Amino acid sequence: DKIREERLAYLESEPRIKAVTVCFTDLEGRLHMLDYDKKFLLKSYDNLTFDGSSIRGFSDQEESDLRLVIDWPAFYWLPSDIFGAGKVLVFCNVLGRDGTPYEGDMRGQLKAYLDHQFKKNGLTCYAANEIEGFLFKGRDAERRLSDAEGFEYVSIGGYYHSLPSDPLRLFMDAAAEAQRAMGFANEKDHPEVAPSQFEMNFEYSEALIAADQYQLYKLLCRQVAARMDMTASFLPKPVVGVNGSGAHTNLSISKKGKNIFFDKKGEDGISDVARDFIDRILNSAPDICLILNASVNAYRRLDPHYEAPNQIKVSPIDRGSMIRIPLGNERSARVEVRSVGPDANIYQTLFAIFKTGLEGPQSDPVDESKRTRTRYLPSNIHDAIRIYKGSAWTKEIFGERVHERFAELKAASADRCPKALGTRVKVAEVQYH
Ligand code: GLN
Ligand code: MG
Ligand code: MG
Ligand code: MG
Repeated sequence: DKIREERLAYLESEPRIKAVTVCFTDLEGRLHMLDYDKKFLLKSYDNLTFDGSSIRGFSDQEESDLRLVIDWPAFYWLPSDIFGAGKVLVFCNVLGRDGTPYEGDMRGQLKAYLDHQFKKNGLTCYAANEIEGFLFKGRDAERRLSDAEGFEYVSIGGYYHSLPSDPLRLFMDAAAEAQRAMGFANEKDHPEVAPSQFEMNFEYSEALIAADQYQLYKLLCRQVAARMDMTASFLPKPVVGVNGSGAHTNLSISKKGKNIFFDKKGEDGISDVARDFIDRILNSAPDICLILNASVNAYRRLDPHYEAPNQIKVSPIDRGSMIRIPLGNERSARVEVRSVGPDANIYQTLFAIFKTGLEGPQSDPVDESKRTRTRYLPSNIHDAIRIYKGSAWTKEIFGERVHERFAELKAASADRCPKALGTRVKVAEVQYH
């Protein structure tokens, strides 16, 4: 409440601010935004409502009126050269008619879960997301991906190429500057393996902030690209024959400021807690796969020949494993989940991963020791939906209603593109996230 009062006072006293962009995320991970005039918002911030029936995954008739409650710490300046003058952005949580957290709002669900873990066990959960994307010529490139016209790369650069004055480099420079202006702690950015592919890294943070910044990162990349008459695409596999785009998520947990995933004496430098966290995720990996890879297109990416994992295992080196243990020290020891597509709902993804890692069912040690065959993630969305629907664990994570609604949404998106295994991106695979 102190933060709220400070922010309100700041809004009131800062003449450069004209409007406040209020945003939330639908069940499929799409960011929604509405701009309130500042004067209006200052009067009515505690009574913001909207019609939930028009939002994917929120749509039950009887719950059409929902409330937006501003999460005041999640407050960002929008740089005026990119977003236009005079705007700030805040994230919201969604409440139902009765004022309780709305179950379809994954940001609220993630926040509640993290708060609960902190209160109950004193744990702080951290995440750092490495989000890859492609840059194409023209503002309508994603629509054109599926036509005969095709798309055009803006650059032929590959991994870490220097690319002087190349459009990809100029784009990353502009996007990095926008990130700084929004208060991201940038770390590095570089051309990725495929032509015209990029990745920009920023510092790890508490999981909720990391998820908000994932949404902002994609927003600002799209916005910067559009201003340069290009398209930033976060489709997991826009182009066949070259690497796709991943959103590797690096996770750690601390207690009283100490990284409990680290153990100098542990195998690969990680603790038993981290090992247990990994085992539980691997054990439920087929069940939660639909959340981490939530589109038809995401399954085209999961091919180890293109550094995208389809194997349910952990390894310090092998990039075909869905979990990797990067070389780390006390500060940076972490678990990297590589089988996440950049079009996943990141709030739902982090909620599912943390909850599974901390509380998910453990594998049966007898089965485990007898196992000789490698296990694979589902190879297409139809299998992923089937396994998810039959999973008692995913029902427990989300509750019956949201669980079912998510499966329905995914079945509908799979039905829109029946030939999921063809080699060309189909129009219906392209969803703006
Ligand atoms: N593009 C790969 C993926 O889809 C990752 C490659 C890399 O980070 N070097 O996950
Ligand atoms: Mg990386
Ligand atoms: Mg990468
Ligand atoms: Mg990585």
